[in-house]
Amino acid sequence: MSPKKIAIIGAGISGLTTAYLLQKSGCQVQVFEKNNHIGGSIITEKKDGFLIDLGPNSTLETSEELRNLVDELGLQKQKVYANELSNKRFVVRDGILHALPMSLPAFIKTKLFSWKAKLRLLKEPFIPPTQGEDISLADFVRYRLGEEFLHYAINPFVAGVYAGDPEQLSTPAAFPKLYALEQKYGSFIKGTIKGARERKKRKEVAKDRAKMFSFLDGMQVFPQALSSHLRNNIQLNSEVLTLTPLAQGFKLTYVKDGKQEEQTFGQVVFSVPTYSQSELLRPLIKDRADLLTEVNYPPVAVVFMGFKKENVAHNLAGFGFLVPEVEKKQILGSIFSSTIFPGRSPEGAAAFTTFVGGTRQPQNALKSDSELEQLVFNDLNDLIGLKGDPMFVRIRRWEKAIPQYTMGYKKVTTLFDQLEREFPGLFFAGNFRRGISVGDSVLSAHETVKEMLQK
Ligand SMILES: Cc1cc2nc3c(=O)[nH]c(=O)nc-3n(C[C@H](O)[C@H](O)[C@H](O)COP(=O)(O)OP(=O)(O)OC[C@H]3O[C@@H](n4cnc5c(N)ncnc54)[C@H](O)[C@@H]3O)c2cc1C
Repeated sequence: MSPKKIAIIGAGISGLTTAYLLQKSGCQVQVFEKNNHIGGSIITEKKDGFLIDLGPNSTLETSEELRNLVDELGLQKQKVYANELSNKRFVVRDGILHALPMSLPAFIKTKLFSWKAKLRLLKEPFIPPTQGEDISLADFVRYRLGEEFLHYAINPFVAGVYAGDPEQLSTPAAFPKLYALEQKYGSFIKGTIKGARERKKRKEVAKDRAKMFSFLDGMQVFPQALSSHLRNNIQLNSEVLTLTPLAQGFKLTYVKDGKQEEQTFGQVVFSVPTYSQSELLRPLIKDRADLLTEVNYPPVAVVFMGFKKENVAHNLAGFGFLVPEVEKKQILGSIFSSTIFPGRSPEGAAAFTTFVGGTRQPQNALKSDSELEQLVFNDLNDLIGLKGDPMFVRIRRWEKAIPQYTMGYKKVTTLFDQLEREFPGLFFAGNFRRGISVGDSVLSAHETVKEMLQK
């Protein structure tokens, strides 16, 4: 085996994008994946006329790199933008769904926030920027926007994106752009207005403006298209067990269909979760591996349910709803899957994808299927009104779902930079580095490949 060959560990969207870009630049690549399928968290199933995304349901078109990659893979005809109706998003307050205000008049009218909270926002541009290296998202929002905004806007938003808790997440690590706006312009509101002009110049799109998309046949189309270019260079059922640095390159041992094998490579890219990295790297980096083990990946259960439309009281004209923690419900939120994209349910049916657990209620995600089904049914019934039993249910538990960029996370991202310097030929690309979304993972792959090709 030529040591020039590059090993990529993990065939999630990050590993596959890394491998694809390297191969396109003329490198020889080999992807190792421990499971029997590609895509990592991206899994789509079709059954009984329903199309079920068990991981991400969509992503935001925030960068040119992502848009170009989708085009380059020939997925223009498969790509589908979210229905305009889904611009409307709901947040629960006092057991009722309130549309998130999208304009000033709507903001003035909404019952989602009290008058006191609305007036408090006016103070924000005059509050000095936060000080210090790190600040939790909750403290940041409390200080800049007030307690009520934290409870009814940020807490549910963070549950929807990270399945996380704003008291634990680090603002600079988890929301670097938001933090940078505040630090640069002294105010989040002033920064949003001025930052928009600068983003336009950089051809970047803010997450709140970016268009949401998926594919007609579900999110799995994306990793499948990447893998079709990599063909025999992906080894499934191949868990990498050890990594040993050699005078030139690295030796990897892995179990392939129950048999241990080894190969040498010139360079290795880690695109596996940090807890898997820590096992592989501990012999090399000793106690520093603890930092990687300590990253919290809380469990999340995805509960997909189909109902006859006539059995749902709500008109479902929206993206879905998020539940603030103070509302004391058992679910984090639910998306109206059949409203957002076509083909998610058979004629006459409505489909919901509900998220349970996360940092807020990890124990809920690990309940039995029947308990989960009941718990989701009860909350959906309270909030959108249901009649009769669901016509379809599919549950998927992610025991370790999404890495939480908690306070001090900078130490973790700094460790990746250090290891890339200390062990020439070792690289990291994944949702643990530059953001957790599918789009961020693609960008992480791009940046790592750029760095590799420059060396
Ligand atoms: C339930 C859920 C909902 C989400 N919703 C959204 C959403 O709506 N929009 C959005 O943009 N993002 C969403 N995300 C986040 C996004 O899907 C992920 O962050 C992204 O897909 C991660 O890709 P990745 O390649 O970095 O990691 P992963 O997908 O975790 O891939 C890592 C791969 O490495 C493999 N592996 C691990 N150890 C080894 C080893 N030793 N040897 C070989 N292989 C190994 C794993 O089997 C896995 O396939 C969601 C995530 C989850 C879990």
